[in-house]
Amino acid sequence: MKIALDGPSGAGKSTVAKALAKKLGIIYVDTGALYRTIGLYVRDHGFEKSDIKNIIACLDKINLGMDFIDGKQIITLNGKEIGDEIRTGEIAMYASAVSAVPEVRAFLLETQRKIARENSVVMDGRDIGTVILPDAEVKIFMVASSEARAKRRFAELQAKGESCTYEGVLKDIMERDKNDSTRKAAPCVPAEDAIHLDNSDLDIDQTVERVIEIIENVKK
Ligand code: C5P
Repeated sequence: MKIALDGPSGAGKSTVAKALAKKLGIIYVDTGALYRTIGLYVRDHGFEKSDIKNIIACLDKINLGMDFIDGKQIITLNGKEIGDEIRTGEIAMYASAVSAVPEVRAFLLETQRKIARENSVVMDGRDIGTVILPDAEVKIFMVASSEARAKRRFAELQAKGESCTYEGVLKDIMERDKNDSTRKAAPCVPAEDAIHLDNSDLDIDQTVERVIEIIENVKK
């Protein structure tokens, strides 16, 4: 079983995908973490987000691993395990920049397809239904208003003690939406056969319920 869960930043994909994976006993693959890890490498090596030439040159020096231990995704970068250092607003913006580079997307393609060939997965990202797993049995494009997403992301960042403002988070979300949906390489758009789910007015449990209904209907 392959479930593709795409949509813009902050639509709650990862929380929903995690709950779903647990319920169905399948693996949750967070593909954004791969782009964030490349963004981290680029930032740590002092390159600008707009320095495409050096971003591409970095790929030759990156050895990326993705494993699953007790259902938990473990990413390694040149042998070192990556943790919460990729979960910052700054690295999200680096991820958004590197993800627009076709060479970066090509670099990460096989890592994503391999895990889905070998396991039942719910994979969250931006181009899972369109590019990575076009044959996924279930494709969901999850959206919520920019304001609803910024409100959730702001609460998350505050809980982690990151200093930020609601306005700043909203601005970043809108900027990432624009980058992600207008880029030439694999933009964040729904697959033709994706089912749209707007969860602006739903909480996580209600969203998971709706996703399960969708999966059950597709299976019928
Ligand atoms: O999902 P997450 O917010 O962690 O993703 C970080 C960034 O990585 C996104 O803004 C997007 O630019 C990029 N991304 C992507 N394709 C994916 C997953 C993430 O382009 N499949």
